[in-house]
Amino acid sequence: SELTPTYRRVLLKLSGESLLGKANFGIDPQFLAHFAQQIQAIVKFGVQLAVVIGGGNIFRGVGLTASGIDRISADYMGMLATVINGLAIQDALQKIGVNAQVMSAIGMDTICETYTRQRAMSHLEKGTVVIFVAGTGHPFFTTDSAASLRAIEIGAHLMIKATKVDGLYSADPLRDPTAQRFTHLTYDEVLTRQLGVMDLTAVILCRDNRIPLRVLDMGKSGALIRAIAGQDEGTLINN
Ligand code: UDP
Repeated sequence: SELTPTYRRVLLKLSGESLLGKANFGIDPQFLAHFAQQIQAIVKFGVQLAVVIGGGNIFRGVGLTASGIDRISADYMGMLATVINGLAIQDALQKIGVNAQVMSAIGMDTICETYTRQRAMSHLEKGTVVIFVAGTGHPFFTTDSAASLRAIEIGAHLMIKATKVDGLYSADPLRDPTAQRFTHLTYDEVLTRQLGVMDLTAVILCRDNRIPLRVLDMGKSGALIRAIAGQDEGTLINN
């Protein structure tokens, strides 16, 4: 049967690492192109899509502090890494004819637009994919928290966190053959079982603002579309 979207506006959180592909640092062009095609399919499905991209493929604040850089500078470096990734995604989308606009939490208006909720909404309503970069614009946060925050601000009906595993399991599925995938969990279960899907700030923001979250493996063909069509895919977390 034909799939139709259950959620009209979706926020997709993608880690910087997902752009690494087979590389050790930076961006694998094949992964980037593949990712752009998946986004194109979502737009063609009739969904307003916002993306929050991480920076872990380039710099993470915590990793930099280990080399002696102070935390605040390190976090700004991490946020700038997300801008680099966002520009790459914007370019890959435009190349295949998908309208896309990077919006940064930190003003840098020769490079991209500065985030305002109002302009983000207007882009989304026109079918332009918005790519939110520079996280929350503040050190000591993560791009997961930025994703929860933006999802709330734009009134996303669903947030998707793409990971390497197709959802949350009762144990590590790579080590324990009896590990079972949870098809559904509440936010409070995620918190009490300490299932480290996102940091606590990000989880609590979603819980308190009732944003459903689906954790899935983007590498699995069709997973994103199935999730947006409301089908069982990965793990659904809600209240
Ligand atoms: N960061 C930050 N504030 C934010 C978002 C990110 O300071 O609101 C910094 C932080 O140093 C983080 C880095 O940017 O380590 C990259 O983001 P993140 O680790 O969330 O990327 P991901 O793991 O998703 O690739």
